[in-house]
Amino acid sequence: MRSITLVSGIVICAAAMIGSLATVAPVRAEDIAILEQDVEYSFAQQLTFTLAFTSSAEISELYLFFRGTTDPDTEKVTVAVADRGGVTRASYTHDVGLYPLPPFDRIAFWWQIEDVLGNQLQTEPDEFTYADNRFQWRELSSPGISVHWIEGRGDPVYAQTALDIAQASVAEINAELRAPVPDSLDIFLYDSEFHLEAAMVLGGRDWIGGQARPELGVVVVAVPPEQGYASRMKRYVPHEITHLLVYELVGSEGYRYVPTWLDEGLATSNEQLPTPEYALALEEAQQANELVSLRDLCVPFPPNGSRALLSYAQSASVVRFIRQQYGSDAIRRLLAAYADGASCTSGVEDALGISFSRLESDWLASLRPATGWRVWVERGGVWIGLWLLSILVTVPMIGHLHREAGR
Ligand SMILES: [Zn+2]
Repeated sequence: MRSITLVSGIVICAAAMIGSLATVAPVRAEDIAILEQDVEYSFAQQLTFTLAFTSSAEISELYLFFRGTTDPDTEKVTVAVADRGGVTRASYTHDVGLYPLPPFDRIAFWWQIEDVLGNQLQTEPDEFTYADNRFQWRELSSPGISVHWIEGRGDPVYAQTALDIAQASVAEINAELRAPVPDSLDIFLYDSEFHLEAAMVLGGRDWIGGQARPELGVVVVAVPPEQGYASRMKRYVPHEITHLLVYELVGSEGYRYVPTWLDEGLATSNEQLPTPEYALALEEAQQANELVSLRDLCVPFPPNGSRALLSYAQSASVVRFIRQQYGSDAIRRLLAAYADGASCTSGVEDALGISFSRLESDWLASLRPATGWRVWVERGGVWIGLWLLSILVTVPMIGHLHREAGR
């Protein structure tokens, strides 16, 4: 349980606030009547829930409940009431900086009031979207996809570029995944990583330039509206959309079992522009014999640093290897196995018919630079094969001729 706050009257938030969500029709339970319940917030700072009611008896307990639709836990807070007489007002301020709520989530909240006579009343739940109200957002939409950008930080051409990339990404990525397309997909373009940071939540599928909130159909990316923005969009937007489509394919339960190497490997390999740092990180680690074991990539990557970069690079490389060796069908079989609750290792056995360690060793072998002999064989494979075949055919013939001659 969080701290208890006793406030009479209205707490004023400095930043922008959402409009009133007032419950206007009084609800009676015995002698308690609700006049208004409301919430105001400044994004990533605080939420203030307020309640106004009347009661004929002294109030013994007052509780506030709230929860995000994607949050399994309901917050329960005991709120003290200062005094009675006329209209009683109570409020509770929740520090979002200390106890974050999922950005862009739908938050439901309700109150429970009890008086000393045993009367009890629970208010009807109200809901609001915990959107980033630090900025004025503009919107550009096509059926199923909306792009949001910050007023004054970008223009309709910038938004249209993102929308075009998003539409193309959904089609291209789904050519492989064949996932149900979500009803709505909202892409929020932040003008900087600094502004994006507050909209990121711990425990999500984090990434340096953005984050997907698959359960909400929301993607947030940092794309400064300056020269080269299309290149960033081509990397970030398909990456995050991949997470959304993987989620749509396997469902919320199944998504928990999809190993990070597969989810991030798909997302990273689907970026429309290659990130040179990935190739470099992979090559350097391979030469220094410092590659991360595939087993360690089953779980979420470290949030940043060179190890994170290498983890993304390796995962993308493994996914490309699976595509090349086993085809897109194998990607769908893998996701189906994990959706059924397979472990990181058994999913590979089920879908590819090889052990997890075999997948790793085959992939490692594919990374090794070709030696002189391998190059010779690979480049001349067909001709060498024909030459060997000709020898195999010719030698017995010569022997036959010799035997014929010896008779
Ligand atoms: Zn990712």
